[in-house]
Amino acid sequence: MYNLKQMFHPVEIIRKKRDGIELATAEITSMVDGFMAGGIPDYQMSAWLMAIFFKGLSIDETVAMTDALVDSGETIDLSSLGRTVVDKHSTGGVGDKVSLVLGPLIASCGAVFGKMSGRGLAHTGGTVDKLESIPGFRTRLSPEEFETQLRETGICIAGQSEGLVPADMKIYALRDVTGTIESNPLIAASIMSKKIAGGANAVVLDIKVGRGAFFKTIGHASGAAHLMRQIGAIRGVNVLPVFTSMEQPLGKAVGNALEVQEAVEALRDGGPADLTEVVVALAARLLPLSDLGWDRDRSEEEARARLAGGAALEKFREWISAQGGDSGFIDNPEALPMASHVLNVPADRSGFVAGIDALAVGRAALELGAGRHRKDEAIDHSAGVLLNVKTGDHISEGESLASVHSATLEKCQSAAEAVVRSYRISDTETEPAHVLLD
Ligand code: URA
Repeated sequence: MYNLKQMFHPVEIIRKKRDGIELATAEITSMVDGFMAGGIPDYQMSAWLMAIFFKGLSIDETVAMTDALVDSGETIDLSSLGRTVVDKHSTGGVGDKVSLVLGPLIASCGAVFGKMSGRGLAHTGGTVDKLESIPGFRTRLSPEEFETQLRETGICIAGQSEGLVPADMKIYALRDVTGTIESNPLIAASIMSKKIAGGANAVVLDIKVGRGAFFKTIGHASGAAHLMRQIGAIRGVNVLPVFTSMEQPLGKAVGNALEVQEAVEALRDGGPADLTEVVVALAARLLPLSDLGWDRDRSEEEARARLAGGAALEKFREWISAQGGDSGFIDNPEALPMASHVLNVPADRSGFVAGIDALAVGRAALELGAGRHRKDEAIDHSAGVLLNVKTGDHISEGESLASVHSATLEKCQSAAEAVVRSYRISDTETEPAHVLLD
């Protein structure tokens, strides 16, 4: 427990980091513990975070930071399952419903998929929000319920409990308002602390890169990925990063219930090609990290067979029911929340789609009600954007580019303008965009 007299002086620790001197583990622990105990105020923590932003952290310091975050709360021990629990983490994107398809796909292969998930942040969606558009679905589970469901169905995706890594939550909120988010060691410690505390043995990181993502360049993304692999290796979690593009939204649906519907299409093996490509690529990397003993080629083959044969969809049905959801929407999509206003968005010229600004579409969905500006804001699960054409497609003037869905016509009208502007239409033929970057 933090004790200023007995332990370290925050000003000294801030000065040391400011001057680029490596900190001892105990100094890092004392900063995190002191901040949580209220002995270190926001202004000192902010100064320290800014010093880290400029001077960085060594790998030992980054691991010490990760450990301090993990130790700030409870941890989940899934060892009594006697299985390897695999997880997938996305750094956040627009239209990213991969977990909804990948989780049941992995479980349908016989592996155990356990994931603690978050809510949407800014223009990016969160898996918990998407799942909560399913009538009755429970995202707040106790650690015991999480474990029981993994044992019985092989899949559980729950909201991250407040008791898990509370220091990350408090420090992240401060980073968000002090310009210190974009620090690779802070990002790596933040993400890995949540994975370690959540009890997973192996994680595939879906690192989104591009205009709609947190990482704008592959260079920035690969620095963070390398650190996360190192932390995983030191703390016994097998970490495998995969880089995927977030220049345009993934799939065609952006918004919670719309994305759940698209996930069902993908589980019926009829989803958008880019979504299925990412799901299969992640399955081919995640299954070899499970305890099934499959290599990458076999994993890919088995994953494709379970999508085509319906086993993944059946596992999805079982999972939704196990977590209290009414699975009727799988065969009857009208059972999901439906927006009272849907506006068609026509193309203002003919040509080939050269690009779709994922950030602009994500922001349009946010304004339609699919996301929140403040943490405590309610969201409209029915709101969002449905794209009809993607990069590489041809469109004629007046044909439908997309539709926007919301509770009010005014929101639909302003989002429709933003969606038209998000499209780049070219006279020359363009290639479909590559979604896998590695
Ligand atoms: N996602 C996280 O969970 N933490 C970060 O610091 C950045 C992205």
